[in-house]
Amino acid sequence: MWTCANCGEKHEDQFETCWKCDESVAAPPLKDGALERPQRRVEYQVFRGTLATWENLFSQAAEFASSLGPERLISISHSEDRDDGVVAVWFWSAEPGKTTNDQGSS
Ligand SMILES: [Zn+2]
Repeated sequence: MWTCANCGEKHEDQFETCWKCDESVAAPPLKDGALERPQRRVEYQVFRGTLATWENLFSQAAEFASSLGPERLISISHSEDRDDGVVAVWFWSAEPGKTTNDQGSS
């Protein structure tokens, strides 16, 4: 038999935690960390067009990336989608929770 130091409830020895204040005793205080959600989220801007305009796409992406600045820019990737060239600029969102995907503008 043992007595909970927190609430004074008596327990059999087979119980390792207090049933009355089990949540606060057994669970480690990780909730504080979970509440600290990232301030910013990853966004992306896609530039796409025909292969003939690779230069155009890259210059557009470069200009966009330059406007973001080095602190927000994550990386720039590109690939081919059939006849389309796709350039994606990955960056940190300025405001948390705000989505500014300009895709599908063609
Ligand atoms: Zn207790």
